[in-house]
Amino acid sequence: MATMLDRVGTGLQALAHGLRLTFATLVGPKNTVMYPLKKVDVSPRWHGLLALPIDPQTGNDLCIICFQCERVCPSRCIHIEASGKGKERLLTRFDIEMDKCQYCGLCVEVCPTEAIVFVPHYEASTYNRSTLLYDLEDLHRAAPKEPIARGVIK
Ligand code: SF4
Ligand code: SF4
Repeated sequence: MATMLDRVGTGLQALAHGLRLTFATLVGPKNTVMYPLKKVDVSPRWHGLLALPIDPQTGNDLCIICFQCERVCPSRCIHIEASGKGKERLLTRFDIEMDKCQYCGLCVEVCPTEAIVFVPHYEASTYNRSTLLYDLEDLHRAAPKEPIARGVIK
């Protein structure tokens, strides 16, 4: 009998604890925001869209066309083409299929020149899947003015 009463007592204690937490949360400060009317600042390490920042010193891409990001991408969504040889080599295609990207960050990590970065932009949803193919121009446009995340120009 005593065991049964102990159990009921423990149950009531747990109930009281749960209710206390519920009411404290009800009247306490709110952590949610009225998105999209309000937006939160994302972490500097946020994996948003990918971008290719232009080197402000030279006005050119930082990409040295080593193909490492294309090779390491587990989703096979990076497509790079180049023309010319040696120092004359030119980037002619840099496409990322963002609908296939899993935001793993391997491309950013592997890049030796910090030519590919994440930007804090996260509102890329669309009803048209074809608009999620980002070409060189799109990737330049998405480049951040200020460096964020790792793998960005100093
Ligand atoms: S974040 Fe990952 S999946 Fe997306 S392009 Fe880079 S390597 Fe590929
Ligand atoms: S890893 Fe960096 S430098 Fe190499 S191709 Fe990709 S973006 Fe260009």
